[in-house]
Amino acid sequence: MAGRWRRIAVTTASAGLVLPGAGLAARGDASPAASYGSVHCSAGAHTLAPPGSRLYPDTGNGGYTSLHTLVHLVYDATTNQFLPGNRVVLTDRATQCLTSFSLDFERKSANTSAGPDMSVQSVEVNGQPARFTFVQPTYPGDPHGQNDPNPAAHEASQVNPVGGPNHNPLPPACSPELPSTRTPPDSLNGTQCPANKLVIMPSGPVKNGSVFTVTVRYTGRPGVHNDGDGTTEGWFRAPDGGFVTTEPVGSEDWMPLNDYPAAKPTYDFSNTVTAGRTVLANGVLVSVKRNPASGEFPGGSVTWNWHSPAPVASYLVEDSVGNYHLTERVADNGTRYYEAQDTAISAQQRQKNLAIMNQQQNITEFESQFNGTYPFTSDGIVVGTPPASFEEEMQTMIAFAGGFISTDVLYHENMHQWWGDNVTESNYTMTFYKEGLATVAEFLYQARLAEDKAGGPYSPKGQAAFQASLVKQFSQIYAGKGTFWTVAPSNPEPVGLFSGSSTYSRPAAAYLALRQILGHGNFTLALAQLQRTYGGSHITEAELEAGFSRWLPVQTSACRARLSQFFTQWFDTAYPAGGGKNRPQITGPGLAGPGFYNAQGGCS
Ligand SMILES: [Zn+2]
Repeated sequence: MAGRWRRIAVTTASAGLVLPGAGLAARGDASPAASYGSVHCSAGAHTLAPPGSRLYPDTGNGGYTSLHTLVHLVYDATTNQFLPGNRVVLTDRATQCLTSFSLDFERKSANTSAGPDMSVQSVEVNGQPARFTFVQPTYPGDPHGQNDPNPAAHEASQVNPVGGPNHNPLPPACSPELPSTRTPPDSLNGTQCPANKLVIMPSGPVKNGSVFTVTVRYTGRPGVHNDGDGTTEGWFRAPDGGFVTTEPVGSEDWMPLNDYPAAKPTYDFSNTVTAGRTVLANGVLVSVKRNPASGEFPGGSVTWNWHSPAPVASYLVEDSVGNYHLTERVADNGTRYYEAQDTAISAQQRQKNLAIMNQQQNITEFESQFNGTYPFTSDGIVVGTPPASFEEEMQTMIAFAGGFISTDVLYHENMHQWWGDNVTESNYTMTFYKEGLATVAEFLYQARLAEDKAGGPYSPKGQAAFQASLVKQFSQIYAGKGTFWTVAPSNPEPVGLFSGSSTYSRPAAAYLALRQILGHGNFTLALAQLQRTYGGSHITEAELEAGFSRWLPVQTSACRARLSQFFTQWFDTAYPAGGGKNRPQITGPGLAGPGFYNAQGGCS
């Protein structure tokens, strides 16, 4: 998403915090381990976050990998309700013999106005009824197991250790769900985490390596998640429908899933909704079929089928339903471009929006010059009306909120299709990696404007203006003072994850410096190779850094060591306030600061 300085503050009317399902981990969770013949079976992990995590440590589920998801919504757009028949079918592969496994699903929320209010009717594993229960998360790595009887093992916090009024020395089990952006960030530290882990106990163990299906039937009202900075994301109520933007964890407020960025199943959507409404999802539109009147839909219904052959990370699943006007266009190279706007937006504003939306193909081609080939078979934009907290790079269907789109944010979100969407961060602490690259796209847009003004991309003056613009933008960031450098990009707190310079401009400046260090050609080759190597999957910080190091033009041990120092300074170091000496001391050739190479072009 784009930096949260763009957002309109969303307030929620929840008074006081009611914790659904608070208390000890539910009884009835599967026995921790069991042996079947000579095979050892046990419960899958209730988190994918590494031990010590303070960024959404409650999310993700282990013991299996997510392969494919069929979303089968049955949705009444006029009442904002999922009706009987509403379900998801998850296809997973076991990575151990499983007695039980879990999903993330926030079916109820302390936010009783805009939060979800759903219930699960049944769960089936391979078509057989399975028992299920909701439990609280436990902090990752808890030696007493995920059913730890100690209530202190199930507390929320911004920080590790939890602290809080009772000085809990344990790590947090979840990030706090702050009721609003005005709530003091640490005010929920030490409170109990809600029971958002849906634990499923199949009638018999699931064998290691086997592919299995999980069908979860649920009904009720989808809603939004209150996250660690007090903003909301998930399923926003739109006029006669819903509007979906979810980063970082709001997908679990409208469907059960393995809610972790590195979990990337492919998707099919088959949504039956109130007649006359449009469904917008990831991938390509396959078919639209009108259905006659029924008990649930007295005025008739319509079934929309979308298909995403590419895997989709948990926070990039799009599934908006409402009065959207949708168009589809196929470009010369076969890429499909979708444009959708809520019809509640004024005709005049829709016309303004359209002028920007129509630039998406051109922006995609421009960004391809830096990133390599566009990774998906479609791209698209939906402009919705709810004052959702932010714009978001939903895969192939970028979501703009508040009825409004802007060009620089489109450059940002479209850049995410390569960085975040195709090559996804391995966990939340890597958010800076993809936000930095998306912010670079905003700089490239400014440079492009300067280039056009100076004579265009094929003139030496235009090219010089392009480079001068990037150099100037680097200088402005590198001059940052005050608290600009005080948070290490790879170690943020939940409250600052989507607002700090550590997530956006600092890593973006690091990439501009890298472009100078590697050389412009090598920088692009490095980006394209990262796309080829990690596309459709995810990347760790070590893999990212090795991917750039490979393209260092001076391959001496001294230069490799200096590049490693560069990454430590720019990505991993929290400096005292002030700037100046308290900021990275390695930059790049031709940029403000000490540069990278010595006078001989080496690094010793
Ligand atoms: Zn972004």
